Amino acid sequence: MKITVLAGGVGGARFLLGARHWLRDASVDPAADLTAIVNTADDLWLAGLRITPDLDTITYALAGVNDTSRGWGRAGDSEVVNGELAAWGVAWPWFTLGDLDIAASVARTAWLREGVPLAEVVARLGARWELGVRLLPATGDEAETIVHLAQPTDDGRGELHFQEWWVRYRAALPATSFEVRGAEVAHPSDGVLEAIRDADVVLLAPSNPVVSIGPILAIPGIREALRSTAAPVVGVSPIIAGSVVRGMADACLTAIGVATTADAVARLHGSRAAGGLLDGWLVDTADADVVDGLVADGIPARAVPLWMTDPSTTAQLVDAAVALAS
Ligand code: GDP
Ligand code: CA
Repeated sequence: MKITVLAGGVGGARFLLGARHWLRDASVDPAADLTAIVNTADDLWLAGLRITPDLDTITYALAGVNDTSRGWGRAGDSEVVNGELAAWGVAWPWFTLGDLDIAASVARTAWLREGVPLAEVVARLGARWELGVRLLPATGDEAETIVHLAQPTDDGRGELHFQEWWVRYRAALPATSFEVRGAEVAHPSDGVLEAIRDADVVLLAPSNPVVSIGPILAIPGIREALRSTAAPVVGVSPIIAGSVVRGMADACLTAIGVATTADAVARLHGSRAAGGLLDGWLVDTADADVVDGLVADGIPARAVPLWMTDPSTTAQLVDAAVALAS
């Protein structure tokens, strides 16, 4: 069994921990393999370093070295280098990088400058641990999310890099649109289109639909691969009972005119039969009332518990997604 997952950062990581748990369960085919296609549109250059937040979040979580209380970075990390950079006014005072994070970014940047493709860099960084998931960056090209603002910032800027909008302004500045700048000339990483084509099932993690899943779909060739794969494509709602569970995805959905509901996100992706992506969609039991409407619109749906509280609980929702696919 080959499973391919489209994933952002924290939601993607939690889902992959559950998928790995599910695959390790004795009842599942031991030859099963798990591939994640990870969002790279949050990436940026900072202090001369290439930073890849979603790839790092997933790598650290699968390695078991993530800081679960802060929700980002490595457990037990220090901020010595960050303090020195701040004293020189280098980088962003509101974007903290731990020392171990900076070490990973130095290694990444060194390899990228030698011409090593990002997919290979990700493999080298992850090789220190037993991740149990093959991580593929959606693209190795620089294609980053730019947020267009309804009102300029106090210093007169009408657009911000996604990280500044998200981390500095906590998504509180109303946005009018999200642009993945450079996506039109970007290429999927080696292995991405094959992972979609050769999968037995493709799952959309309950990641942010606008700024995690959306930018993956913006890389030319990926949406087409999803539309044409023989594998069923099943998504998991990031919205439970009209709210975002964690984070600020509602600000992103509102900006593009989509309601913060489990069924509105499904309709955003659309039924594959009607030109969209989905062969199935899982909603939480709290949203069971939207199932019939989705089915009527050609999106087979089921209601199961969608709280990813720990890997074994999440494994049950992965099991439901695979069951819906078959
Ligand atoms: P980011 O890149 O770190 O922002 O993370 P992702 O885009 O991968 O995931 C963020 C999304 O995960 C949020 O919009 C949440 O709605 C969703 N999410 C987080 N925890 C849960 C959970 O336990 N269950 C479900 N269904 N969704 C969740
Ligand atoms: Ca992210």
